[in-house]
Amino acid sequence: MKDLQELVRPNILALKPYSSARDEYKGIEASVFLDANENPYNNPNNRYPDPLQNELKALIAPIKGVREEQIFLGNGSDEGIDLVYRIFCRPGTDNVVAIDPTYGMYQVCADINDVEYRKVKLDEHFQFRAADLLAAADEQTKLMFLCSPNNPTGNDLSHEEILTLLRQFQGIVIVDEAYADFSEAPSFLSRLDEFPNLIVLQTFSKAWGCAAIRLGMAFASPEIIGLMNKIKYPYNVNRLTQQEAIHMLYKHPQVLQWIKSLQEERTRMMEEFRKLPCCQTIFPTDANFFLTRVTDANAIYNYLVHQGIIVRNRTHVSLCHDCLRITIGTRPENNALLEALREYKA
Ligand SMILES: *Cc1c(COP(=O)(O)O)cnc(C)c1O
Repeated sequence: MKDLQELVRPNILALKPYSSARDEYKGIEASVFLDANENPYNNPNNRYPDPLQNELKALIAPIKGVREEQIFLGNGSDEGIDLVYRIFCRPGTDNVVAIDPTYGMYQVCADINDVEYRKVKLDEHFQFRAADLLAAADEQTKLMFLCSPNNPTGNDLSHEEILTLLRQFQGIVIVDEAYADFSEAPSFLSRLDEFPNLIVLQTFSKAWGCAAIRLGMAFASPEIIGLMNKIKYPYNVNRLTQQEAIHMLYKHPQVLQWIKSLQEERTRMMEEFRKLPCCQTIFPTDANFFLTRVTDANAIYNYLVHQGIIVRNRTHVSLCHDCLRITIGTRPENNALLEALREYKA
């Protein structure tokens, strides 16, 4: 990769960040805090939260096998995605390259930040070749977005092709592993020390069952994490979220149980879908959802809505005509979907 200094927007390199009261006094041994204009009543919500979420990071680091200075925490993964655009991409000048189809937020953030978004279509197995992404890049390409397992297709991307990109691309490679807990493929977290241009995104929203608390994780070199901390809002993760996440980390064995049950239900659902007359293709998946091509996605989507069952209609997404994306639910929820589809008459 190029020098980090060369990739980062000059105004961000030069930025002097806001310094909060909690940045300037970090100790905990003091007992009288009269520095942050907080209300002395209504403990504990009267106090600003830890801006760097140190207690939480200390619990996440051993579970993920990384060092605390390789972790950034934000208001969902979406905060991490937005921050990397604002760190690296000069509006109106720089561009990014991404696979297509994939998670919609990469493009939305590009559009918000006035950054050109270059899409490279996946092949019929929903795989990509590093050479095709590299061919779409130029001097102004700062970022490449990969999502593995990919949303909405469900499959892991080729490990070898991702490695080739990490070796050959001069900019930053973002590997979004929102669904990695459901996959057997190894995470790219173990390669952070090897690739200074790698950013791995994970989230509490899926396997951890915490979409409501809005907590996303980014893992990268301490230099990149330092830049993310420099430009984030000072108290970007509120105290209630930090506390709930700490509680969930102590329940890690329970989370592993959920993952196992969802994987088992996924296998069962795909076997049952194969028998449905309205189901034409089921695409292989490594996530907590699967993509299926049906006889008429719009009609079946509307039929299910009338039964009070909502799936995701992906028919207008590239390579996904007549496809529905089905999230794995509880056994009774999954059975309700199967029952409804067995009764569907075209
Ligand atoms: C669900 C999802 C996320 C999670 O986003 P949060 O903001 O953390 O809820 C990230 N990436 C992909 C590809 C997703 O599907």
